Amino acid sequence: MTDRYGIMGHPVAHSRSPFIHARFAAQTSQDLVYEAIHVEPGAFLAAVDDFRAGGGVGLNVTLPFKQEAFTLSQTVSERARRAEAVNTLSFGAEGVCGDNTDGVGLVRDLVSNLGIEIRSRRILLVGAGGAARGVLGPLLDEGPSDLVVANRTLSRARALSEAFRDQGPVDSAGFSGLDGRAFDLVINATSAEVSGELPPVPESALAEGAVVYDMMYGAGPTGFVRWGQAAGARVSADGLGMLVEQAAESFFIWRGVRPETAPVLEALRRSL
Ligand code: NDP
Repeated sequence: MTDRYGIMGHPVAHSRSPFIHARFAAQTSQDLVYEAIHVEPGAFLAAVDDFRAGGGVGLNVTLPFKQEAFTLSQTVSERARRAEAVNTLSFGAEGVCGDNTDGVGLVRDLVSNLGIEIRSRRILLVGAGGAARGVLGPLLDEGPSDLVVANRTLSRARALSEAFRDQGPVDSAGFSGLDGRAFDLVINATSAEVSGELPPVPESALAEGAVVYDMMYGAGPTGFVRWGQAAGARVSADGLGMLVEQAAESFFIWRGVRPETAPVLEALRRSL
């Protein structure tokens, strides 16, 4: 029987997840359909009920519903509990299970796809919104020597670093507090580009041989990727690989099969 999956968001028409999951399914001979489902704010719980009533067995959840998905979940993984957000829902005999695959997606793209070391490295995580919160725990699990969360609104960076302090060497800063500090890996988890801006990270924050990673992606290099290139980063990569890797982890949770991500990432890049 064909199993039904989907992604709910607002907006969601732009989502590349149906493209990715269709390729994962074909590659691993899994009998499933995966659709993008537009949901109005305030209508998430009813939309999930409808989806389940129609035979849906698993959902990805994107902005702005990740916190609602967390609240809805009857059991959550440890990484979702720490993130306080769920991007992967499974509906089975045990009820509603929530997980968060964003962080592991980022780490796999950095470590496995791009060959970048996190252990014992100095990391700057720029942004303190939902995306930053989702990746902070999995980044700390990799054992960086220190990790600084920098954000426009310093109080949010502070709250985030305090929430994860028991998990590793994490601290917070405003952008002006970055003067005189250098990092091996600088990750942009802000949505600044949406308003045509860049987070004001000083070029001096890049250590010799530093890597720049932008969680955003698009048809061409993002503004932050271009900033990294111009500032002399050894590697300056966008977040398309993270998107594919977080999807692969969701696929694994649902189907128990790990798809190969490289050909799907390549096809997705070509399609943009
Ligand atoms: P949120 O709205 O929760 O947070 C936005 C963050 O961006 C805040 O830290 C905010 O700072 C900061 N910000 C916004 N505008 C500016 C600006 N002009 N200058 C400096 N900082 C700014 O969004 P999310 O955390 O959910 O998403 C962030 C990004 O991550 C999005 O672009 C999203 O597309 C991307 N993402 C990519 C994924 C992938 O798979 N590649 C997965 C998940 C997210 P402040 O607190 O001061 O408002």
